[in-house]
Amino acid sequence: MFFTKLRLSGFKSFVDPTELLIKEGLTGVVGPNGCGKSNLLEALRWVMGENRPTAMRGGGMEDVIFAGAATRPARNHAEVALLIDNHERLAPAGFNEEDQLEIVRRITRDVGSAYKVNTKDVRARDVQMLFADASTGAQSPALVRQGQISELINAKPKNRRRVLEEAAGISGLYQRRHEAELK
Ligand code: ATP
Ligand code: MG
Repeated sequence: MFFTKLRLSGFKSFVDPTELLIKEGLTGVVGPNGCGKSNLLEALRWVMGENRPTAMRGGGMEDVIFAGAATRPARNHAEVALLIDNHERLAPAGFNEEDQLEIVRRITRDVGSAYKVNTKDVRARDVQMLFADASTGAQSPALVRQGQISELINAKPKNRRRVLEEAAGISGLYQRRHEAELK
């Protein structure tokens, strides 16, 4: 499984529909300060189910919607789609019927977020679990924020263990156990 494309519309500074092709190997994003490089990474986090506004550098989840500029009005929706190559059929059970997975998250002001996988409505939890089982996701250590390396070095052993658990591919199991304990 690998990411092939990220599509954004109305998300933060990406007001017009924008596509980022993610090819095999290394992809670099370069540009001047404030051009939206970090916003792209946040879009990736967000479509995988990130629900903490602070992780998106915002005060509330609706802050991801294009807020308007001098010459353009604000939007009411933001949408991010993530395309995943699944020709090797390694996607977790329940999502493994097709060669390509398209995960879409859309947020509407005063309504909230809705998710789709291959055009079918799903819950946030389904998307979060899909990525946890695939050993990635919004909180995966595969996504490294600025300052995160030094945080890891100074982390308590318990927090550092989470990184190892993710590497071992068992974070989906932990998430399920946590939910079972809450019930
Ligand atoms: P740097 O090189 O400084 O790290 P960057 O390329 O990572 O910059 P970002 O932080 O991704 O830049 O982009 C910041 C820009 O996104 C700012 O201009 C900010 O105004 C804009 N922005 C963030 N949220 C919104 C929003 N909801 N609506 C419109 N613009 C937004
Ligand atoms: Mg940045």
